[in-house]
This record gives sequence, structure tokens and C-alpha cells, in this order.
Amino acid sequence: MTSNGVANPPEEWDVIIVGAGPADMAAALYTGRARLKTLLLDRAGMGGGQLMNTELIEDYPAIKSITGADMATAFEEQIREFGVEITWGEVTGFEARGNRRVVKTDDGTEYVGKTIIVTTGGLPRKLDVPGEAEFAGGGVSYCAICDGAFFKGEVLAVVGGGDSAVEEATFLTRYGEKVYIIHRRDEWRAQKLLQERALGNPKIVPVWNTVVEEIGGVQEGLAKKVKWLRVRDVKTGEVSQIDLGGVFIYVGFMPNSQIFGDDFPKDPQGFVITDDKMETHMPGLYVAGDVRSQYVRQISNAVGDATTAAVAATRYIEELDATGDEDEAESAEQVAVSY
Ligand code: NAP
Repeated sequence: MTSNGVANPPEEWDVIIVGAGPADMAAALYTGRARLKTLLLDRAGMGGGQLMNTELIEDYPAIKSITGADMATAFEEQIREFGVEITWGEVTGFEARGNRRVVKTDDGTEYVGKTIIVTTGGLPRKLDVPGEAEFAGGGVSYCAICDGAFFKGEVLAVVGGGDSAVEEATFLTRYGEKVYIIHRRDEWRAQKLLQERALGNPKIVPVWNTVVEEIGGVQEGLAKKVKWLRVRDVKTGEVSQIDLGGVFIYVGFMPNSQIFGDDFPKDPQGFVITDDKMETHMPGLYVAGDVRSQYVRQISNAVGDATTAAVAATRYIEELDATGDEDEAESAEQVAVSY
């Protein structure tokens, strides 16, 4: 066994899947079932990806309701049945070496495969206002599931108007005495069902047309504690203060796409652009899930796109294997292109 748990790793994999979450699990399920030698390479401690920040999933077909953690566990149990191996590493980049694809990690390890599927997802976007960084961990949070229980009986605020903000505000009413949803417009973009649920909850107070300008608080011993928000009504220009004990920021997320060099086309927000097979401009390197440039970001379409990537990778490998010695020759030339 190596230190990170892979028993006698083969020198070469058919498919290396980078990331954590529904897309990588779906890709691994399909390549595992295709009997391809599959390695799932995940960031240490990140198993499940954004699923671990999600309390309940109620919009995945055939599953009425499941917690994010339970879904992550079920995915992992299922892929292990098909011989998929899992290891950990911080990926720093990719290289095309002949007709092999190489994943590099920060400890110098190189994982060599015929194909790579990247499903690295995204991270919460910052609000970028004074006090946000100062009070992070002291009442500023990006994860209601992780931190909500620390705020029993407090007045809370959620910033944002998307699915995450509205859904997590409802979750926070379990703990908070009152939960403001502060949104810069006069309507949320969240799904109607989530909106109805939130608006029907007596603890939720929408604050429309309002932006947060500053987060403030006090020093309590060694710790900092949020006490107020300075907000501005964007229609009237009026500035006021909301006193509270915690603020949860859900203003979208940024793609984990830094590992793709400048040569990879990305959209203006940095999400990676692929073709309809999920293939990037490096043949044999596929991208699926939240890190990919796309119209919607749901578990169901992440799983669907990862399925497409896995099937495309399977066919790519079939063609590669059919060319036989030609591959060996090309590999031996060690034509290396770093991305
Ligand atoms: P999102 O859909 O991008 O929404 C971000 C929200 O934050 C928007 O309401 C936006 O306002 C607001 N916002 C952005 N920048 C801001 C700023 N600087 N100051 C104030 N407000 C700002 O992000 P999300 O809710 O995190 O969701 C991300 C993706 O995951 C979406 O595709 C979503 O559908 C999906 N998701 C799905 C579920 C589910 O199916 N149950 C749950 C969570 C997330 P505007 O509306 O004015 O642009």
C-alpha cells in the first residue's frame, strides 16, 4: 500500500478522474462498469464536493429526499463495487505526452492515463466588502450546514437571491430566531418552489433592493464576532444598519479551473469550455460538472454530462487501443505538451 491507500498502483490507468462530487462519481460509475481501469483522484478531505454543503436534495429524479452526505456515501459505495480506486492529491496541471495524458500533483507525483475527466466543481464567491475577511469564521460563513448550529437563537442574514441563498436561509430557520435574505434586486432567481417555501416561513424576512456595504463586529477575547451589517437600499440610496449574530454569503461560486492553463478556452467567468462530448481542445481530456461552462448547474445535469464524458472517454480508448503499436511509437517519442 502507498501512503494514500492505493495498493500497488498500475503504471497506467485507462481513465483518471479528478475531482469530488456527483459528476466524478457518475463518470467513475460508467468507466468502472465499462471495465476500464479507473482512478479517482480527489483533493484530501473534499469527498463529496458541494454535496457536503447541501442539506437536502429534493430535485434529483426518483429520489424524493436525501441529505447531501448520504448521497455522497451512496455514490462512493456504488463505484467501489466496480473496482474504481480512490486516492488523494492536489492537482497542479495536465500534460499530453504522446497519446498518453498525465495528471501532475503538487508532491511531484505523475499519474499517467489514456484519458482524463476533470470534475473539480467550484468554490463560494466572496462578497468582497470590508469586514468579510476579518470576520470569516467569526460569524461570516459560506456554509449553513457546517456552521448553522453555532447560531442558535441569533438573528441571521443570508446574502444572495439564487437557489443556494433561498434554500439555505430556510435551513437556517432551524437555528436562527429570524433570517433576513438580503438581495440586490426585487425578485429572487431561485426556483419557485424554494421561494414559496421561504416566503411561507415566518422566520424569513426578505430585504429587497439592498446591498451589503460593510460587515462589522467586536473582538471577544481572542475571537472576533459579527454584530452588524451596514446595508444600502439601491433604489433610495438610504443607508441603515442590521444588528445580527451571523451572515451567510451565497452570491454564486467560482470555478476550480486554475489547474487549466491559459491555453484552455474558458468563458468570461473562468468556466472551462468543452464541445458536446465534454472534450476540451486536448483530445482525451474531458470536463464535466460545475467547473464546465454551461447554462444550468444542477446535480442532475452534472451527472448527465459526466455520463457523456465517460462514454466519450470509453470510445476514445477503444480507438486508441485499436491503433496498437502506433500508440507505443508515439508514446516513446515522448512528445510532451504541457497545459
Ligand atoms: P447563483 O444562482 O449564481 O446566484 C447568485 C445570487 O447572488 C444571485 O441572486 C445574484 O444576484 C447574487 N449576487 C451575485 N453577486 C452578488 C454581489 N456581488 N452582491 C450581491 N448579490 C450578488 O448562485 P447559487 O445560488 O450559489 O447557485 C449556483 C448554481 O447551483 C446555480 O446554477 C443553481 O441553480 C445551482 N443550485 C441548485 C440547487 C438546487 O437545485 N436545489 C441548490 C443550490 C444551487 P442576481 O440574481 O441579481 O444576479
